[in-house]
Amino acid sequence: MNASGDTAPGGWLSELFCSLQGEGLYAGERQVFIRTAGCGLECVWCDTAFSKRRTEWCVVYGPDETRIPNPVSVPRAAEAAADLAASFGPVSSASITGGEPLEQSAFVSSLAASLRQRGFRVHLDTNGVDAAGFEAVSGHIDVVAMDIKLPSATGRAYWSEHRAFLAAAAGKELFVKVVIDMNTRDDEFLMAVETIADVDDTIPLVLQPESGVLFSSGGGARALVERVQGLQRTALKRLARVRVIPQCHRILRIR
Ligand code: SF4
Repeated sequence: MNASGDTAPGGWLSELFCSLQGEGLYAGERQVFIRTAGCGLECVWCDTAFSKRRTEWCVVYGPDETRIPNPVSVPRAAEAAADLAASFGPVSSASITGGEPLEQSAFVSSLAASLRQRGFRVHLDTNGVDAAGFEAVSGHIDVVAMDIKLPSATGRAYWSEHRAFLAAAAGKELFVKVVIDMNTRDDEFLMAVETIADVDDTIPLVLQPESGVLFSSGGGARALVERVQGLQRTALKRLARVRVIPQCHRILRIR
């Protein structure tokens, strides 16, 4: 039983740590990160491939590096998050990220509730393809950072899934991220913009230039930055708020 008296399943976690949010509208905010293990998508530029599969241990990067056996109970995960906040705080915000958190929606729902009871404001970072999973956790989430995964990145289209997710999350504080690389096509980008605008043209869109190219020593970075700015101008014709924000943790060389 958790603190609310509900039966809460254990969750498969990859790592816990305290750092600065690196992506999206909250870039730079100090947060405790809880990274779930497991994700069924195959993004070509995935930078957390280690979290795509379930492992025996969850690593906690506290004052000492420790390991917790998986699956981790909700009270144990929330306690570890609170310990990190005490060691590296003040910090009052927790980000549940992945992997894909909504693949374990029952666990994430209980964890988010427990984090809130401990005073955290809870952010959810998700690939945005599981509206039903989101409905299960929505009541305990303060901020939703949703990805739109383009077909050029994943090898298949998720438009109907993204549409359903946006409809489910539209009442929350929500922003959408799209990773842009040199394989991003105009038609799929326009589809992403229309998919957002059809739900609410005031939902903020963050364009994230792909870090592998952006921070490479080759000549691709300039072309990518120009490409992203062109797409920003295109998106601003349909959406009120479109920003270009790179992965700040990569710039700062932190986790
Ligand atoms: S959704 Fe996230 S964790 Fe899953 S493959 Fe894509 S980038 Fe990696």
